[in-house]
Amino acid sequence: MNYWQEEDLKYIWHPCSQMKDYEDLPPIVIEKAQGINLYDTVGNCYKDVVSSWWCNLLGHCNPRINQAIKKQLDKLEHVIFANFTHKTAITLCQKLIEVLPKGLCKFNFADNGSAAVEMAMKMSFQFHQQVGNTHKKRFMALTDAYHGETIGALSVGACDLYTEIYKPILLDVEKVPAPDCFRCPYGKCRDNCACECFEKAEKTFEKYGNEACAMLVEPLLQGSAGMKVYPALYLTKLRTLCDKYNVHLIADEIATGYGRTGKMFAFDHAGVSPDIMCLSKGLTGGYMPMSICVTTQEIYDAFYDDYNKGKAFMHSHTYAGNPLACSAAIEVLNILKDENIIEKANENAKYFNQIIRDKFENLPYVGEVRHIGLINAIELVKNKTTKEPFESELRVGYQIYKKALKKGVLLRPLGNIIYFNPPLIIERGDMDFVTDISKECMLEVIASL
Ligand SMILES: *Cc1c(COP(=O)(O)O)cnc(C)c1O
Repeated sequence: MNYWQEEDLKYIWHPCSQMKDYEDLPPIVIEKAQGINLYDTVGNCYKDVVSSWWCNLLGHCNPRINQAIKKQLDKLEHVIFANFTHKTAITLCQKLIEVLPKGLCKFNFADNGSAAVEMAMKMSFQFHQQVGNTHKKRFMALTDAYHGETIGALSVGACDLYTEIYKPILLDVEKVPAPDCFRCPYGKCRDNCACECFEKAEKTFEKYGNEACAMLVEPLLQGSAGMKVYPALYLTKLRTLCDKYNVHLIADEIATGYGRTGKMFAFDHAGVSPDIMCLSKGLTGGYMPMSICVTTQEIYDAFYDDYNKGKAFMHSHTYAGNPLACSAAIEVLNILKDENIIEKANENAKYFNQIIRDKFENLPYVGEVRHIGLINAIELVKNKTTKEPFESELRVGYQIYKKALKKGVLLRPLGNIIYFNPPLIIERGDMDFVTDISKECMLEVIASL
């Protein structure tokens, strides 16, 4: 361990980590980055194919975003956002409205994804209270969902790894069994099914729809659950069902927005709009902590009244509307448009998926290769026929992760699911490289099982 690693471990408690693992794998000290490359202090390079927790959209140290932030920095770094405003935030909203699903037109700012989810939940709850639906007090969400780490966001999440210990203090949320296309209980295939599993949502709504204020979803892709992909038809049906029961549909597009699924937003695949949409991650290109909760005129209007009626949304975050973050977010939208980023990424996505299928699909223990946009996931299973998973204690994914790091590729498997979620600007040479290395590492680990 070098000096900086020792000092790091003296002071820093890293997120989502068992710190004891660092005895064996000390933190990698990154000094600079460019495109998809991260460079450490001792001369190693790592290909960041997880977009640094899915937020880096257009490469590290993107010259245009760097320039935009520097320009903003010399004018205004931050200002209180109640009663005060600034052109950068306004311009961002003008630009976002052009690309958002229709009907979403009121923007409330926060500084991380979980905070945006909390805000969406409070907004929906308060809306129903203020329009006379006082019986609507519960939330619904999908099983296997992930919406963040604060208490409210954890309540609507369902990944046991994150929620289990906190269950006694979480909200009582009704969970709709999520689509499970890899292990489809109806024996269908996600490319041409009729979402037979939607009957489970219908049943849950029959029971709890009347007392629910909102249903949250990660559209098309349950990320933390292991990059589980499901059809857009499910969202279209969910829109109709939510309307029937007067339940808000909250789209958590924190991971799926900004071209990750091949369109600007995952909901664009479904041709319907949610009532509230949460954005973060790609929003600033992975530069600055910012999130936005966008909603409709109808929801906004239910809070609009004389002050003493007490209907205002009294939610705030100190860093709401931060100008530096807004300047990055504007430049991200400019780049996506000027450089046809999503179109080009979709062309490359075909190539990426093809080589991944070619290299991995026939390997032992590979249960499924699934993809959406540039996101590709390889689910490893103990038994290819029964799809029985590996025991989590084996930490198969983690072993592959450690080997890949040594060879210059940053994967961060979700359990036994190895995935790639690279910046949209990844080039084909890097796709070849990272898939070759990942395959090598996977074979080594498999051989040792
Ligand atoms: C990352 C993520 C969040 C939480 O965002 P943070 O900024 O980490 O709080 C919420 N929902 C989804 C779908 C995410 O991927």
